Amino acid sequence: MAALIEGRALVPRHGTEEGTRVSFVQGLRCRECARPAEIGPVHVCELCFGPLEVVYDYEAMAAAVSRASIAAGPPSLWRYADLLPALPGTAAEDRVDLGAGLTPLVPAPRLGAALGLDDLWLKNDTVNPSFSFKDRVVSVALTVARRLGFDTAACASTGNLANSVAAHAAHAGMDAYVFVPADLEQGKVLASAVYGPTLIAVKGTYDDVNRLCGEIASEHRWAFVNVNLRPFYAEGSKTIGFEIAEQLDWTLPDHVVAPMASGSMLVKIDKAFDELTRLGLVEERPWRVSGAQASGCAPIATAMKDGTGFVRPVKPSTVAKSLAIGNPADGFYAIDAVRRTGGWMEDVSDAEVVEGMRLLASTEGLFAETAGGVTVASLRRLVATGRVDPTERVVAVISGIGLKTLDAVADVVGPTHTIDAGYDDFAAAISAQ
Ligand SMILES: *Cc1c(COP(=O)(O)O)cnc(C)c1O
Ligand SMILES: [Zn+2]
Repeated sequence: MAALIEGRALVPRHGTEEGTRVSFVQGLRCRECARPAEIGPVHVCELCFGPLEVVYDYEAMAAAVSRASIAAGPPSLWRYADLLPALPGTAAEDRVDLGAGLTPLVPAPRLGAALGLDDLWLKNDTVNPSFSFKDRVVSVALTVARRLGFDTAACASTGNLANSVAAHAAHAGMDAYVFVPADLEQGKVLASAVYGPTLIAVKGTYDDVNRLCGEIASEHRWAFVNVNLRPFYAEGSKTIGFEIAEQLDWTLPDHVVAPMASGSMLVKIDKAFDELTRLGLVEERPWRVSGAQASGCAPIATAMKDGTGFVRPVKPSTVAKSLAIGNPADGFYAIDAVRRTGGWMEDVSDAEVVEGMRLLASTEGLFAETAGGVTVASLRRLVATGRVDPTERVVAVISGIGLKTLDAVADVVGPTHTIDAGYDDFAAAISAQ
């Protein structure tokens, strides 16, 4: 299963070489038929076209990793390097690292009271370097990409991924080609363009962009983080789960509610809890994961709710553009994780999304983008329908910042008063309130 990179055998070694770290990555494997594949920029099985997944030596990992070894690591997602697909021979200074991860996990009593929850927490991923959770997956994917010898980073994006790839590529001195749907929010476009990538706006949906990128990836030797590097990319989302557990003093919460685009993040949070349990880093106990989508693009939630589990592609139409994937790659696995853990899925209207954004901001002082509104509004429904118990310890993942999607709230919030600059004008305005 060893791959050849720059003429050197990339064989996992469980001893530290000078300046390099131990790696527990054994190779890749098909999620469907279990056929092994060599480490490299590949994401589908040669035999059955199933998605490939990173395989680890958990026994060796368990012997080497402890709560203390993690706590001794850097204040970023790289504290979990041993549980990530950092390839053999990757030194700490080889990481493509803008400091993503180890974001705050904060109690949310006011939002909890508004939703009818006793013990609600928010995982605040708006404070990542490019202001969304995508920095986690990009930091991991581009670290692998550089180790595999790539000098060009690329992606098919619903917005935040483009921001993150452009930022990390700039930091690493890599060229960047980022592809987005042409109808994206201006905040997302500018927040990518400023880093100086080649930014290609495609007249079509994300699913059109993704299909185009699949073709380009077979013609150009570029590291498309969510196409040919997807097995490594996806593993970055596990760090949300690792952090939630560490920040709860190495315990698992009862329930995590996460927004879904491809469904990958939700799947990997569940996988993270499973790995922590397997490694003996947390005590074994049940947890549940539940998913949130916007009704204007809810192929996964629909398949969950209609009981078929069969994800039918849709044409997205929603303000939650970061979640607008009509043909989600991990929808099937998201439904599997939710069913297996006893969670559920909900979807909400655009009006509820905006209301969710305002509720989160006004109760907890956290301004999230539309995806955060989707999560909060879906959580409200999950409580109302009894899918989330009021006494459960619930963590809601708030995955991106509101400043990139100002348009969503532009019509519903603004100055409460506009006055002339005299004290009397102020007094009159306030007393008329
Ligand atoms: C991409 C994205 C998600 C969901 O990602 P998947 O892993 O594809 O489900 C959630 N929130 C925000 C803000 C995103 O940009
Ligand atoms: Zn296969």
